[in-house]
Amino acid sequence: MTIPENIQKLADELATLPSIGPRQAIRLAFYIAGEGEKKADSISRALSGLKTIGQCSRCHFYVFRADAAASASSLLCSICVDKTRDGSLLCILEKETDLISIENSRVYRGTYFVLGGPINDARAKGRVQKSRERLAELIARLTAGSLMEIIIATNPTTEGDLTAIVLKKELAPYAKKISRLGRGIPTGADIEFADEETLGAALENRK
Ligand SMILES: [Zn+2]
Repeated sequence: MTIPENIQKLADELATLPSIGPRQAIRLAFYIAGEGEKKADSISRALSGLKTIGQCSRCHFYVFRADAAASASSLLCSICVDKTRDGSLLCILEKETDLISIENSRVYRGTYFVLGGPINDARAKGRVQKSRERLAELIARLTAGSLMEIIIATNPTTEGDLTAIVLKKELAPYAKKISRLGRGIPTGADIEFADEETLGAALENRK
């Protein structure tokens, strides 16, 4: 039994996504094919829309790039340009989706920095991790003691804990206080999946 080539191609792409196995990819590809032309069009339009996504040059959150030619260094997200946000507070996160979760809790009015992943030197195997590069970039633009508080909001996982230790050590000179998102988020869980109330409480109970 051969799977039609176009369905197989879609399945191959889907299988490259996180937590989608090859069987699930095939199932999804058949499902989309079964939904007909309208569905295929709307999915491909949504995917094409991602071509106009850039990254904020300050916090690395994703941002709509209206002008395709705009240089990456000039892009700023709506939070970074918002003058009402407290620039003396900096919250450091592993991923963009963690930022969304913290924003949804509506407790925090400071600024952010997305590391792009945990810092785990053991796994780097000779190449510099993206998170390491970003930390170096952040440090390069900070001045000693200029921030009131840095809030480390890495996940309460082993990797998140190790990252928090590195961040605490390397960022100590730049803020009067360094805190970690309070407990309450279950150990081993992900900030992204914590509910708004739990996250809000974790922010208020930061130590
Ligand atoms: Zn930004």
